[in-house]
Amino acid sequence: MAKFILFDLDNTLYPRNCGLFDHIDRLINRYLEEVVKIPAAAVDGKRRAYMKAHGTTLNGLIVHHQVDPCDYLKFVHDVPLADYLNPDPKLKTMLCELEEEKYIFSNASSKHCRRVLDFLGLEDCFKGIYDINYFNFRPKPEIAIYRELLEAIGARAESGVMIDDMEVNLRPAGALGMTTILYGPARPTPSRLQTNVSYRLHSLTDLPAILAELR
Ligand SMILES: [Mg+2]
Repeated sequence: MAKFILFDLDNTLYPRNCGLFDHIDRLINRYLEEVVKIPAAAVDGKRRAYMKAHGTTLNGLIVHHQVDPCDYLKFVHDVPLADYLNPDPKLKTMLCELEEEKYIFSNASSKHCRRVLDFLGLEDCFKGIYDINYFNFRPKPEIAIYRELLEAIGARAESGVMIDDMEVNLRPAGALGMTTILYGPARPTPSRLQTNVSYRLHSLTDLPAILAELR
């Protein structure tokens, strides 16, 4: 049976179509334009290039523009959460009934994670939050931080499950031996992207069934 579960936060504990992450996305663009002074027409290209070369837009900004990561995270997470999120008592009940230890594993800041958890009413459901600050701004999918997380919680990869809406973030987890669950609405995905995914989950309410299978 699984002993622990790592949950991604954004677009996993709330649905992508609620619009919250699109708002964050717009703030990232504004940061590049207004603070870093990258011409508007070049912003999308820069973001793609930084994601590809450095894993996150933030890491590209740190390397190429000496951006203060705390300043960036504060700016892009300054979202009116009440416009997008409602308490999710069904999810809370489901999480509370799972006996596995539950952790947040996010490329966002722990401050953002706590605010989102508060709005969803899930603030008591997790044993810990492993955020981008904890790993000194190294993001998923850098495999080193997965190893550090396992060490921090004192667990073996084989005894764990990871849920994320991005397949790329699950690859290191799968490579280390965790059971991986790709979360998100059903959509056609090229088969080459599915090599390390153990399960696909279209609704979090189906999670207990998968965990029961592992027991
Ligand atoms: Mg996500």
